Amino acid sequence: MKNRAEKNKKNFFIRIITLILAIILFSIASCMAVVLHQRTREQSDLQLKNTAYHKVDPQRDIGEKQEKTECTSHYVYDIQYPQLNQEEIDQDIATMVDDIVNHFIENHKQNKPKNLDERPVLSIDYESYQATDQLASILFTTTVSVKGEEIAKQYTGVSYQISTKQKVGLTDIFQNQFVDPLSTKLERYFTRKNQYQNYLKDISLKPQLQNWLTESPQFVLTKENCKFIFNYNTIFPNEIGICTAVIPWNELQDIMKPGLTTPTQPDQKEENPSSGTSPEQPQPPTEAPKPDDTPPSQPPSNQPTKNGKPLLALTFDDGPKASSTERILTLLEQNNAKATFFVVGPQAKQYPDTLRRAVNMGCEIGNHTMDHLTLTKQTPEVMISQVDQTNQIVKEIAGVSPRLVRPPGGAVNDTVKSTLSQPLVLWSVDTRDWKTRNAQATIDHIRKNAAPGQIILMHDIYSTTADACDTIIPELAKQYQLVTVSELFEAYGISMTGGKTYSQAE
Ligand SMILES: [Zn+2]
Repeated sequence: MKNRAEKNKKNFFIRIITLILAIILFSIASCMAVVLHQRTREQSDLQLKNTAYHKVDPQRDIGEKQEKTECTSHYVYDIQYPQLNQEEIDQDIATMVDDIVNHFIENHKQNKPKNLDERPVLSIDYESYQATDQLASILFTTTVSVKGEEIAKQYTGVSYQISTKQKVGLTDIFQNQFVDPLSTKLERYFTRKNQYQNYLKDISLKPQLQNWLTESPQFVLTKENCKFIFNYNTIFPNEIGICTAVIPWNELQDIMKPGLTTPTQPDQKEENPSSGTSPEQPQPPTEAPKPDDTPPSQPPSNQPTKNGKPLLALTFDDGPKASSTERILTLLEQNNAKATFFVVGPQAKQYPDTLRRAVNMGCEIGNHTMDHLTLTKQTPEVMISQVDQTNQIVKEIAGVSPRLVRPPGGAVNDTVKSTLSQPLVLWSVDTRDWKTRNAQATIDHIRKNAAPGQIILMHDIYSTTADACDTIIPELAKQYQLVTVSELFEAYGISMTGGKTYSQAE
């Protein structure tokens, strides 16, 4: 029964997603964008998979990264896209991204997942390439996941000529009769690769490639090559995954237009940072500033310590959930550590024993509202009731009333601040564990960003987060005393007051 319900739900999502993508296809295909998707893995896909969120540093030659995130009780989206500081181009990119987001929201706003970890998550990520002085190319990865599993995925390539601010299609790059010779080159690419042999026996590839090239080719231009991307439901069977053909420019020269592009020759690709990028181009975005680079082993003298170690606060949202929270509690216990759990009312009701165990261990229970609504979009009455209900539930179950509130999604504005009488706790290190669902990515992020006085954000409803804690809690506990948020601020001599936000102690 359960399996069947899950299967139905999954089918439902797949149908919805197919619908969204179909709509998007028609709205942007006129220019030459989008296509379709699904999941599976395979070697050719791995390279592209790495361009998605698992990769720590995607290639981003150009543009300034923009981010938008929204967490509601119905859905979550987290998108990144570049702005090139070229008005028309930026407008075009923003519109394309907005279309995708709006369709996603439209399709999920009525959605009522039973648990927060069942919310569909839309992610848009990108890589950007400066193929030549004049050619900018962006590869977007759009995925929709539910419970950490991708249910839809597609790659969309867009290229622009900077001087004209126009989109660049294959007809701009290649000579008039390019479809036939280019399909020959692509066919040769695939027939040489072993992994395609089985599939190529049964299909005649060339006419399909010709169709694809005239209809909706996805491609991205880099300094070294032109990458063609075959999304799901295009030419190849879905079980072999999303396929790419990477063709170096020197193999394409015979069919390229002489005027528009003279990409850098492949032998110039040596990682000389100044080559190829013209000076007036914006520099690749730098990493977000790290909260604090002080080596934890040598805390400055004014830094509070406990047991000779500087302090750090781990926080876990959206729980409790017995299966994963209990594992985290055991790890904390074994490492003489404490954490703060920002719980939502219904989860607390569902797992009262887990909640009580956390309290008995000296962990702090914070309030993450009743329904995980974006507070900035609620009336003051709703804000208050969302917080009060959860305070009440925690008090009834565990005998303590949460002192701190963490607004869902970190969404705070002046109304939230003036309405709520409890301190509002944000974070300084965002592991994005809910998005990656990848223990190693969570571990890496914490290793890179942990520092005294920081507040680290995780979510205890995911088994992958508990997996990360297996490694990271013992490791952190050697260098830091892991304390609750209230203890952290108290040690720093900061008194926390109602309606103010706190993201780190300093
Ligand atoms: Zn949350």
